[in-house]
Amino acid sequence: MIRKMILTLALALAPALAAAKTLEVVTTTEDLAALAREVGGDKINVTSLSHGYQDPHFVEAKPSLMVKLRKADLYVEVGKELEVGWAPNLILGSRNPSIQPNTPGFVDASQHVKMLEVPAAVSRAQGDIHPFGNPHYQTDPANGAPMAQSIVEGLERVDPANKAYYDGRLADYRTRLGAAVARWKKRADEIGLRGMKVVTYHRSWPYFAQAFGVQIVDFVEPKPGIPPTAQHILELEQKIKSEGVKLILVEPYFDPKQANKIAQDTGAKVVEMPASVGGNKEATDWFKLFDSEISLLSQALGKGA
Ligand SMILES: [Zn+2]
Repeated sequence: MIRKMILTLALALAPALAAAKTLEVVTTTEDLAALAREVGGDKINVTSLSHGYQDPHFVEAKPSLMVKLRKADLYVEVGKELEVGWAPNLILGSRNPSIQPNTPGFVDASQHVKMLEVPAAVSRAQGDIHPFGNPHYQTDPANGAPMAQSIVEGLERVDPANKAYYDGRLADYRTRLGAAVARWKKRADEIGLRGMKVVTYHRSWPYFAQAFGVQIVDFVEPKPGIPPTAQHILELEQKIKSEGVKLILVEPYFDPKQANKIAQDTGAKVVEMPASVGGNKEATDWFKLFDSEISLLSQALGKGA
């Protein structure tokens, strides 16, 4: 009798316990983790598989990362093959049926983002690691909105009971983001970014350039993922001089030596730009990332922080 009562009680409590469960969200990058926190609030725990100071194309697929995926309720990736070298094996190895591709717990954060540099034909010739368009879309601050939307859609698939909560947080994030984007653009115009010619190490910045009117003239890497030859550096230095390029933007995971040498030869300035949340110690969330980037550029141009 008592046993039956306990069982009945346990069954009655089960749905309440399930509803109160904190969802485990695992993202591939710290940008996605920051956005998940914005929209998931206290309903989720978030873990990122990589750090913002690591090259997102090349993350070591350690077994410890597989363990993090094992209990995930939702997996979020940048997509467009950014993580193709490491994430698919981790997901498969996790043996977690809830987050496999084409299941409700799998989120491709690129699905609502307007992609740039989409090639007419998919080709990995010459080692190009951007075969489906440029995957570094997080460098446009406004893309936080479509990225967050994909995350919310995923959260609502696996946790429909909290739909109103996630919708409310997304709306609030969009409002705060809109105000911040206007502020960053105003500041960018004040420090003269519009029309400014720059060179970047990797092809990480076309979205940033489009957002702020910056002109990217060339790259230290001749092709994404391909290190420069001496001949390429020579031609690049000539171009920097003839075009009057003032800044060389370098992601934190590239050795700045080569860029420093180019700067020395040409008079341009190297700016170590975080590119992602966690890319430097200031960039602790989506808002502080762009605060830091605009501030670094402003300092490099002698316009103060
Ligand atoms: Zn890339």
